[in-house]
Amino acid sequence: MLAAKLDHLANAGNGKPRFSRTGFVIESGVKNAAVVATLMAANNGFLFKNGDARIGETLAKTPRSRQADDASADDYDTFPHLVIIGNMLIVMKALATEADVDRVRERIESMGFRAHIMPGEQTTAIGITGNPKPVDPVMFEGMPGVAEAIRVSKPYKLVSREVRHENSIIRVHGIPVGGDQPMFCGGPCSVEGREQILEAAHAVKKAGGQLLRGGAYKPRTSPYSFQGLGEEGLQLLAEAREATGLGIVTEAIDVETFDLVEKYTDCIQIGARNMQNYSLLKRAGKARKPVLLKRGMSATLEEFLMAAEYVLSEGNYEVILCERGVRTFADHTRNTLDLSIVPAVQKLSHLPIVVDPSHGTGKRDSVHSMALAGIAAGASGLLVEVHPQPDRAWSDGAQTVYPHQFAEIVADAKAIAELLLSRRAAVHATT
Ligand code: PEP
Ligand code: MN
Repeated sequence: MLAAKLDHLANAGNGKPRFSRTGFVIESGVKNAAVVATLMAANNGFLFKNGDARIGETLAKTPRSRQADDASADDYDTFPHLVIIGNMLIVMKALATEADVDRVRERIESMGFRAHIMPGEQTTAIGITGNPKPVDPVMFEGMPGVAEAIRVSKPYKLVSREVRHENSIIRVHGIPVGGDQPMFCGGPCSVEGREQILEAAHAVKKAGGQLLRGGAYKPRTSPYSFQGLGEEGLQLLAEAREATGLGIVTEAIDVETFDLVEKYTDCIQIGARNMQNYSLLKRAGKARKPVLLKRGMSATLEEFLMAAEYVLSEGNYEVILCERGVRTFADHTRNTLDLSIVPAVQKLSHLPIVVDPSHGTGKRDSVHSMALAGIAAGASGLLVEVHPQPDRAWSDGAQTVYPHQFAEIVADAKAIAELLLSRRAAVHATT
């Protein structure tokens, strides 16, 4: 029965990675049921990339008694605890107890490193940071509950899918980001006053938005431009939350004002200009509220993920990535919205990624198209600048949409997301 299931899973791989109902990754080329079963038995259900030497090593190390036919339904259905050690990943046995995990954590801490318990619906991961050099796997391999130590191949650890296979779902004011349904966040670039933000908030809510954005501290290119209302702006955002029930997303631009922003907001935005402000990222990592991290204007995928790693490494695992356009030679838009980073991020990381088509284009007329393209590319939500009177906006008016345009974006994006979801369900049902 199990062998037949595995055989089906493995053969269904058909050259492409696939996800089974329990979230195992069957990579291309791993088509032999015995291999898959052996790997599952050896790793408590944790499969590795095809072509990776570890597959061979794992097989060689697997005792015959644990091979294919011995894999029990329990091996198949239970999930491992994972521990990362520097560039090392410690896989706990599926049946490892909390006490086993605690002992590993204590050992990590006694070595002067930091242990991270990665929250997950099915998989618990414990990571370690603070170790400049790789740690000897022998230190952990003999411990009760530890299955084996494996090297992590990427420079980032905690954000990596090697550590957590399933998508992370981050909740902002109760709204899930990273699940099946896209999240919609709208609001003005800046909080300008009570009337403006309350009107914007009601309009965003009416249009189907779930979160309200708006800067109280603005990172402006010119020191003479409006810099934001500061704490008063934060208070007005809190008032708008009271009035509408919408969660708040607002930017923290420096360590000095971080505490205030954290106090009022539901999600802390780190702007593109600050993506590599490491002291700010570390402070965000100490926050106990989700972080929306915008991609820097010239950041590579790896730099983007490493910036997120800074936040996670300080203990805050709730990070939402945001693509907002990068600088290119193109001058028909303010930035070039690089939607190809969406699948690239999703391949490497368990963190959700959303798209900001407003800064990504700089043009009101392009926002609708690129918002839909973002959803079609698989983004977990949209961040859109919306203002009751965009032409009177104190900042970013040219890229800010009217409330009725936001309502169209939300409705169309939902339709696309639903279509994709139902088609995916149909494909699943036939495989
Ligand atoms: C903003 O969201 O208004 C903003 C300043 O964004 P970014 O950091 O992407 O430029
Ligand atoms: Mn803006």
